[in-house]
Amino acid sequence: MLDIKTTKTTTPKELPDKDDPLKFGTIFTDHMFIMDYEEGKGWHDARIIPYQPISLEPSAMVFHYGQEMFEGLKAYKTEDGRILLFRPHMNAKRTNNTCRRLCIPEIPEEDFVQAIKELVKIDKAWIPTKEGTSLYIRPFIIATDPFLGVRPSHTYKFMIILSPVGPYYPEGLNPVKIWIEDEYVRAVKGGIGEAKAGGNYVASLKAQIKAYEEGYSQVLWLDGVHRKYIEEVGAMNIFFKINNVVVTPKLNGSILPGVTRDSVIKMCNHWGIKVEERLISIDEVYNAHKDGLLEEVFGTGTAAVISPVGHLRWENHIMQVEDGGIGPLSQKLYNTLTGIQLGKIEDVYNWTVEVE
Ligand SMILES: *Cc1c(COP(=O)(O)O)cnc(C)c1O
Repeated sequence: MLDIKTTKTTTPKELPDKDDPLKFGTIFTDHMFIMDYEEGKGWHDARIIPYQPISLEPSAMVFHYGQEMFEGLKAYKTEDGRILLFRPHMNAKRTNNTCRRLCIPEIPEEDFVQAIKELVKIDKAWIPTKEGTSLYIRPFIIATDPFLGVRPSHTYKFMIILSPVGPYYPEGLNPVKIWIEDEYVRAVKGGIGEAKAGGNYVASLKAQIKAYEEGYSQVLWLDGVHRKYIEEVGAMNIFFKINNVVVTPKLNGSILPGVTRDSVIKMCNHWGIKVEERLISIDEVYNAHKDGLLEEVFGTGTAAVISPVGHLRWENHIMQVEDGGIGPLSQKLYNTLTGIQLGKIEDVYNWTVEVE
């Protein structure tokens, strides 16, 4: 149990207009959580303070060698005014898996969830309620030792900031166009692909720009060794429905284990839909499409929840899925998952956690 000291802002910001589209990650609430780590002392000085810039030495290790991790989850306001988090203990566990890989000190799971709850409670007026909106929660840890040698830092800051966000696709659940990348790779087994770290994102920018320039919105990564097996998309895991079976790449060490991915697998199992977690090659997807068996493709992640894929490009081949529309399974998964998150559908899985 953390002892969190709270200093409330004396100059609260104006809440966004209820018709503001809340462009992802652009608006921040009145408060932030911050806690420090020092070797020998552990995590200490947990506090909630007004949202503000932080001051760091230019020599702080995070700026030079990228010792940094982050998480992403959401809080939702239900119609009867309750505040729900979606599987926050999964994010707490994943934080510690990431921390172990990046030599960052771990945070007790209960402390992680408590810090989120208390911060969300203080800024609860910022949780938007319009269809498709939510409060995005961004916990992160940075290495702060003022030192240019290469080793794990002895000091860190753990922070949480909050951002009200609109629907990921303001025009509704629109299929995205995906570029299958065969030149650059995101991660390899043994690297940090399964950790939620900024370093994975800097490695992805070059291909993302290339995809944008070609008119595509996301990159689908192939494995770094054979350039053959499918890994994931940008900040989403990927699923294929082929001839009535749902297939997703297995967690092989270079793929981020998504909370949404896990939830989709559990829902499909619950509904009696066959799911396979295994290696899946781009040739298999291509052949399934050629044979008319590629029924649906969708990405899964906290930001967009379910993101139908309508068009894939691999080398000079273009694969059009579902005539570029949304498949029935993608739609059902989206409706059920968002229904549970908003407290509109019974949560038979016990996934939501109430902030009281
Ligand atoms: C966060 C993330 C995901 C999705 O994970 P969720 O827990 O479902 O939000 C997928 N891939 C990458 C690379 C990510 O960083």
